[in-house]
Amino acid sequence: MTNLDSHFSTENGNNHELELKYPRKVYEAIIESNGFEKFENIHDRLRELSRCLGIENPLAIQPIMEHNKIEKNKMKIEVDNYYDYMKLIGPWPVNSFNTGVMARPTPPKLVVNIINVDKAIVIDRDDKKIKEMEDIYGLINVERITTKENEPTNKLKANVRSINDFIKCIKQGIYISLTSKKHKVTPSIIHSKVCNNCGSINHKICKMNKRCLRCGDYDHDRESCKKWPKCINCGGKHSCNSNDCEKLNEKTLLINAYAISILEGEGIIENKNRVLRTNRSNSNNDEVVATINDNNLDEIVKHILQRELDTERTRVIELENKMNKYITESETKFVNLDSAVSKLGDHVIDLDAKVTDIDSKIKSVDTKIGNIEKKAILLENKITEIDGKVTSVEEKTQKLKIKIGDLLKKADSNHSEALKKQDENFQGLKALIQNLSSNMTQSTTY
Ligand SMILES: [Zn+2]
Ligand SMILES: [Zn+2]
Ligand SMILES: [Zn+2]
Repeated sequence: MTNLDSHFSTENGNNHELELKYPRKVYEAIIESNGFEKFENIHDRLRELSRCLGIENPLAIQPIMEHNKIEKNKMKIEVDNYYDYMKLIGPWPVNSFNTGVMARPTPPKLVVNIINVDKAIVIDRDDKKIKEMEDIYGLINVERITTKENEPTNKLKANVRSINDFIKCIKQGIYISLTSKKHKVTPSIIHSKVCNNCGSINHKICKMNKRCLRCGDYDHDRESCKKWPKCINCGGKHSCNSNDCEKLNEKTLLINAYAISILEGEGIIENKNRVLRTNRSNSNNDEVVATINDNNLDEIVKHILQRELDTERTRVIELENKMNKYITESETKFVNLDSAVSKLGDHVIDLDAKVTDIDSKIKSVDTKIGNIEKKAILLENKITEIDGKVTSVEEKTQKLKIKIGDLLKKADSNHSEALKKQDENFQGLKALIQNLSSNMTQSTTY
């Protein structure tokens, strides 16, 4: 959303009424889309505009030239009433010009002057403080007014974003932080001028012969004029560029009619002639003081009713715009939801496959565990078997031990018996020897 949009929306209510009260001659909107290529033909564009917004008779619907080139993605649409304009800047159907359309509102052609701003102060549009001021007061393109010689004056000029901003700035003035002052603001009035060459009020580029701007003669110029002034345009007793020229003043009033209607309508000036540079009297203009009688009472009532009706119509269009926006948003949301749901579906399928996969893995693990269990049982059996064998080996070992013990005991007793016998034998032998020996001694002694 641009600043322009947000600003418009905050001031909406009051500004709708002002737009209806002070209609513009032309309402313009810039629309952008990537789909314009297929609508080169004016009739195709008109048909599409009618189909999308129900606008039947635009003043213009045409491509925009920028830097001498046609902007392919931009188009300008002009309409002659506020209702169609509201439709133009409201939301367009999603499929407008095939690819959808973005619309930018154009602000009213109203310009203000900001008075007495010191010439030394540089006005830079990129300056934060200037941007801030633009946002606060609803201004666009603040810049300094310069003279023909490009010398700065002490006035600034700026466009406004809405009628409301125009009125508020002029009534209340503007505070500029760069000067730390509050400045008076006046409406910018374009004063019509005559042609410098021939004095006409009807052109800017001149193909006519040069004339004296004071008396209208062709044989001398204004500087050397010695005649009585006579206006080229109205025949009056003044130079053609005089502030007193009725024709010139009428043209000035015509050029500024839109701003003047607002200034008068809002009581900023009591009379349209106040914008002129002369004290024009009221007697020679066509204003009639209104007196209420049966005839114009009817008119007044009609007028009031019409205004009420206009306000209602604006509300209906606004409501319609809101509804369209809501529908568009809902549609988008639904599409998003749909894709989210289908994405979710994909996820579920994905998840399902994964679950199946995990399931089969679990089964295979299960089988493996079963196998391991079986093996464990087998192992257990074998261990028991081995256990039994070990026990039997142990028993056998025990028995063997006992047998060995027995054998050892036997061997032992055999041995001691043998020793005993040996000993007995030895003792017998000993006694025998002793006998023998004593016998021998006796014999020797003999
Ligand atoms: Zn001319
Ligand atoms: Zn002259
Ligand atoms: Zn005149």
